[in-house]
Amino acid sequence: MAYIPNAERYTQMEYRRCGRSGLKLPLLSMGLWHNFGDTNSLEHMAQLCETAFDGGITHFDLANNYGPPAGAAERNFGKLLKTIFAGHRDELVISTKAGYDMWEGPYGEWGSRKYLLASLDQSLQRLGLDYVDIFYHHRPDPETPLEETMGALAQAVQSGKALYVGLSNYDGETMSRAAAILEQLHCPFIINQNRYSILDRVSEKNGILSASEQLQKGVIIYSPLAQGMLTDRYLHGIPEDSRIRTDGRFLQESQLTEERLSQLRQLQAIAQGRGQTLAQLALCWILRQKAVTSVLVGASRPEQLIDTLQIVGQEPLTEEELRAVDAAIGM
Ligand code: NDP
Repeated sequence: MAYIPNAERYTQMEYRRCGRSGLKLPLLSMGLWHNFGDTNSLEHMAQLCETAFDGGITHFDLANNYGPPAGAAERNFGKLLKTIFAGHRDELVISTKAGYDMWEGPYGEWGSRKYLLASLDQSLQRLGLDYVDIFYHHRPDPETPLEETMGALAQAVQSGKALYVGLSNYDGETMSRAAAILEQLHCPFIINQNRYSILDRVSEKNGILSASEQLQKGVIIYSPLAQGMLTDRYLHGIPEDSRIRTDGRFLQESQLTEERLSQLRQLQAIAQGRGQTLAQLALCWILRQKAVTSVLVGASRPEQLIDTLQIVGQEPLTEEELRAVDAAIGM
């Protein structure tokens, strides 16, 4: 049966302005790094995207190399754009990125003009789109002049292949230099994508949150649930269908030390005290930061999205709860 989106979807979500741009993003966005490769069924991917869209999630985040194999997530999402999302393109914010390993040889990664513009063309072809809404440089390139990389992003916009650009995994200082170049090029640089969670505070220390706030750039946080650790997933052993078991490339069993598990149990108790799941607590904790526009979650099952979507309208953490969170992880 054809998918009919929930008519109430836009009343259920909160949309935050992305920096000082005209673009608003949902509080919760959906990432396609995992669960959208060729090892998953298209039907399951459709269920995930339908659940997201029904809950008011309008933003779907990809990258050239998401799979497996690399490129598959864009290709699979491209199929969904033609089926479940047919007629809804203008309700969606679709992002992709280039920066990591994509094809063989010296032009298949990092930040050259040659790589970025070719990669964007490939992404558009896989997605079956004329343009993406946001095109990111995926990671800083220490060897390519920042002017060249930023020039390529500006050209992506000038050529009509991207509406806005973003930077991912930059620190505050490098991002500020890049922002100055992009400003000179009149390029609509509106967003930073960085990792941040209760368990990973690098973004507080490397200046990205403060510099984004100062320059009025949006911030979208990836792996806000620490790839699933900040959920009830691993509190009672390692489930066979969990990321650790199904795709051990990035989240490994060795990260689940006894110390970590004890921290997670304490966080779970704080969440329960607030009438929340651990996943909801972890997201609300991030959204207390004024600089943050959206949290970018992954999901292997629709029920997980239904759970995280409930953060809209939930009470912010009190000072006491924030202190309890820090104490739980030994800070
Ligand atoms: P999360 O930290 O949100 O982890 C997602 C995983 O957490 C899910 O796959 C699932 O694990 C588990 N989970 C999610 N919701 C729940 C729930 N309610 N209850 C229990 N478990 C839950 O994010 P990701 O690491 O997946 O990253 C999100 C997105 O960020 C990516 O898809 C990508 O778009 C982007 N990203 C960007 C990067 C960059 O360099 N710019 C790098 C990494 C990610 P399980 O599969 O075990 O069920």
